[in-house]
Amino acid sequence: MTDQFGREINYARISVTDRCNLRCRYCMPECGVKKIPHAQILTLEEILRVAEIFSRLGIKKIRITGGEPLLRKNLPTLIEKIKNISGIEQVTLTTNGVLLKNFYNELAAAGLDGINLSLDTFDEKIFSNLTRRKFLSKVLGGLQTLLDENFKNIKINCVPLRGVNEEEILELAALAKNNFVKVRFIELMPIGCAKNSELKGIPAAEIFSLLKNNFGELIPVREKNSLQGPAQYFSVKNFKGQIGFIDALEHKFCANCNRVRLTAEGFLKTCLSLDAGLDIRNLLRSGVSGNELSEKIRETIYRKPREHQWQSGIRNWEFGINRRQMYQIGG
Ligand code: SAM
Ligand code: SF4
Repeated sequence: MTDQFGREINYARISVTDRCNLRCRYCMPECGVKKIPHAQILTLEEILRVAEIFSRLGIKKIRITGGEPLLRKNLPTLIEKIKNISGIEQVTLTTNGVLLKNFYNELAAAGLDGINLSLDTFDEKIFSNLTRRKFLSKVLGGLQTLLDENFKNIKINCVPLRGVNEEEILELAALAKNNFVKVRFIELMPIGCAKNSELKGIPAAEIFSLLKNNFGELIPVREKNSLQGPAQYFSVKNFKGQIGFIDALEHKFCANCNRVRLTAEGFLKTCLSLDAGLDIRNLLRSGVSGNELSEKIRETIYRKPREHQWQSGIRNWEFGINRRQMYQIGG
């Protein structure tokens, strides 16, 4: 379906849990995390019901995220069932990779179409400082499994941080030189912990120049796929894979935004930076009919806000500013 600004909305990110086995400084506080009680988290059946309505409204791609989605029980079964919904063309997963090796076979058997693995560093010390956990070898084991198994659609998500992983940008990008993977550099977004931390992102333009100076020209890749989302991809001579940039701040991606988000507790979130959306759980549990629920979701998606408000400082009084942390949204 299209929203009030004529954007085709065909992509939904579904967060299946707010729990995580890492505590990345830009995403989640070390302590005092208020977990959503289990009873308030959507059941797999409820998620499926919403996914079916999404597909009838024109959603074609679903990304499963978290917190850390691999902590959710029976995730491969959920993926398989979503894959079987008519109209859903792709189901993908974003994971920190800690449990990936353990679940790889089940995920592949469920028909998962793509995996985004978050990896900011190869350095054990930097990893344990940034994520507050010592699990780098597990994450790298997960990546190696994907490569060994020739998994078809691998993306690496990296958040470049001044003075943290700055020295490793070339090494991280080189993953795309030697393997058929897309390495994506994501600008640090001012959400939750990131807003109040000492961390500073590195602008995409700076990373772009660094890569160009070291690897040669970055040639824009024209995406034929309308499900692609806001990343801009580039090919590089002698690279098997590609380099991507998601620069949320410098170049607003809102004009091409094709997505909505469903949080673990069942809030349909129509903008990352605003509180716009719909409490779907409440409706689901008050015995709403399928048609009524579908109509409410359709109206909410139609009213998706025009753009994020991170730079302008304008307060959008219609919706209010986002009050969730990144681990409660799923990226
Ligand atoms: N736990 C999974 C993971 O880390 O891949 C999925 C959820 S995580 C919230 C999804 C993505 O959001 C990760 O790639 C992470 O690096 C990114 N992320 C978290 N906080 C961010 C922030 N403040 N700015 C930019 N990206 C962020
Ligand atoms: Fe967990 Fe992902 Fe957030 Fe890191 S970025 S704390 S792995 S949800």
